[in-house]
Amino acid sequence: TNLEFDLNHGKRGSRAEYLEHNLAILCGAEAATVVNNCAAALVLILRHFCGGEKNEVVISRGELIQIGGGFRIPDILESSGARLREVGTTNKTSIEDYELAIGDRTGLVLQVHRSNFFMEGFVASPPTKDLARLARKKKVPLIEDLGSGAMVDTDRLAPIEHEPTPAESLKQGVALVCFSGDKLFGGPQSGIIAGKKRLVRAVKQEPFFRALRCDKLVLSALQATVDAYLNGAS
Ligand SMILES: *Cc1c(COP(=O)(O)O)cnc(C)c1O
Repeated sequence: TNLEFDLNHGKRGSRAEYLEHNLAILCGAEAATVVNNCAAALVLILRHFCGGEKNEVVISRGELIQIGGGFRIPDILESSGARLREVGTTNKTSIEDYELAIGDRTGLVLQVHRSNFFMEGFVASPPTKDLARLARKKKVPLIEDLGSGAMVDTDRLAPIEHEPTPAESLKQGVALVCFSGDKLFGGPQSGIIAGKKRLVRAVKQEPFFRALRCDKLVLSALQATVDAYLNGAS
């Protein structure tokens, strides 16, 4: 990896610039960056958007999930200092539930993809597009934790479940997505954040970002993975 060298100009550059550039292209995003894992990405995002007066994260009760290793998304969110503002029920959450909950204290609205289970039957949740429209109207960012990080169209691999890609979520109006680099994505353990340039830049300026940054072995393995996708190896 060229780490912090700017190879074009023979000077010191900024860390992971090439990787971030290519990740953004791959995700169909304005900008992207990377931290140690997706849990770290969540904590960083929460610390940034729920750090001050607006300390509430609005999240559906159907998305308060447990991931591997006994860790629970709500605990990870609270460990960042944010307050959970749960909406809806386990099986049904409506756009009105979100609308009623978003207020002066809302730092962000979080959508968490159910990447390790699915629900069927008497279930409903608003389409991402509608939630994004509401978030824009209320002037709060909608952020989606995609968990698995699918980059290929999983419908081609039917009969498996449809997995949303970062590009798909961003196109529907999500401001930032985060996902793991070492699940479906197939790279080293890492947490990728992609979306609006202004927000990616702001998150990178958090002092805590420095404590979560990846080392060069991870960066070079991730760079190889991203380039393999861009070169059509999927
Ligand atoms: C796995 C998972 C995480 C945590 O990802 P790590 O990269 O292992 O930290 C967070 N959110 C969801 C939805 C997940 O599936």
